[in-house]
Amino acid sequence: MGCLRRASVDMLVAMTESQGPMADRPTASTASAAAVPEPAWAQEIIDDLTRLVAVPSIGAQAEHADDLARSASLVAELLSQAGCPEVQVLDDCSAPAVLGRYPAPPGAPTVCLYAHHDVQPVDLADWRTPPFQLTRVGERLYGRGAADDKGGLAAHLACLRRLGPNPPVGLTVFIEGEEEVGSPHVDQFLARYREQLRADVYVIADADNWDVGYPALTTSLRGVCLALVEVATLDHAVHSGQFGGVLPDALTTLCHLLASLHAPDGSVAVAGLEARTSFAVDYPDDRFRTEAGLLPGVAYLGQGSLADRLWAGPAITVIALDAPSLEQASNTLLPRARALVSLRVPPGLKADQALAQLTDHLQTHAPWGAQVQVTPAAAGDPAQIAVDGPFAQTALAAWGEAFGQTPALIGQGGSIPLVNQLSSVYPEASLIVSAVGDPDSRMHGANESVHFGDLIRSVEAEVAFIRRLGDAAQG
Ligand SMILES: [Zn+2]
Repeated sequence: MGCLRRASVDMLVAMTESQGPMADRPTASTASAAAVPEPAWAQEIIDDLTRLVAVPSIGAQAEHADDLARSASLVAELLSQAGCPEVQVLDDCSAPAVLGRYPAPPGAPTVCLYAHHDVQPVDLADWRTPPFQLTRVGERLYGRGAADDKGGLAAHLACLRRLGPNPPVGLTVFIEGEEEVGSPHVDQFLARYREQLRADVYVIADADNWDVGYPALTTSLRGVCLALVEVATLDHAVHSGQFGGVLPDALTTLCHLLASLHAPDGSVAVAGLEARTSFAVDYPDDRFRTEAGLLPGVAYLGQGSLADRLWAGPAITVIALDAPSLEQASNTLLPRARALVSLRVPPGLKADQALAQLTDHLQTHAPWGAQVQVTPAAAGDPAQIAVDGPFAQTALAAWGEAFGQTPALIGQGGSIPLVNQLSSVYPEASLIVSAVGDPDSRMHGANESVHFGDLIRSVEAEVAFIRRLGDAAQG
């Protein structure tokens, strides 16, 4: 009995490759993407963003370590040019971050403006424009980090220029360099720079607006856990002809185990992970389908409103598999197989509780008595952000003034690790999780972009917010 005939493997590979990368999907609703009058200072945003996007500050790839350092120096230079009197690049306990400070006038609060200058990797094949060359197409600016999160950074820089050398409140600018890799050193960083980073309110411009021209403040973020699952059934590989039909191979067993994570309707089948919150927002189905790029005929997972499934409920995804590739395939029963499982943790549940539920499920659902080992790989708690305090109310008014539309209060399916750390280190402080991107910004994906009009409005919102706080401090 020979190995799997090479011919059929090549044919299989050829078949899948011929389908090519998924065709680009039509863009989202353009109704509210009308052009925004561009004030004279708007060109400065494009100049800043062009220089920032040109540096491939990809935190997850070691070959870009120099670019990350170069990016931090550029951020420091732009902050100084914007008028920030005190600027430091800090890389003694994390990837290079930048800290800028303006002293607070007597009796005025301090606002910390946060963004991150590290970006996600790119797959060049999928980009219509060069990812590290900011490209304007109509009202959108394309480039890696244009929305996530160099756009947020550019909005802060423009806000500082608008405010001038003597802002009416204390200002701290914190530009992180490792957000896209899960902020692994944020605890040490906050411990070491606790006093420099202390503020009354943190403006974290790193989420999503509801739509172009329709701002949003984020009130909750899901947490995230990663679990490495290893299944073992044999102590060595054996011939599938000789033993197949009697011995369970580890890869098929793992597939069965992973399949137990979801119910037939696609909802998460792990006990104890049910949603604990819900949202009064109705996510338009047609818009979601367009943004998400769901292929025709493919069904959604689970039950309930889209918003609740995306922001309030759990989500489990298999994000990696250790198994022979098609090229390496042979007619063998594999003794071991591994997978990396990602769990989005519902707000209201702790990450370690969720990880325990997932681990328990995996260990109690192993078919045919297979041995299962689960190793936690990462855990970040969900976050819930209050919007009833004076700072949040001022923010709602300021973003409403700048966009001409009261912000929607929405959740995020993703996580911003810093949010929880800030809440625990500065429990008295308020958090404003704002955005420059919109659902069509394709953050983390190919052809990332930001709507220029929204970028301008985001600057105006930050300026209005800070001026309102200054006026309030004056009494
Ligand atoms: Zn981000």
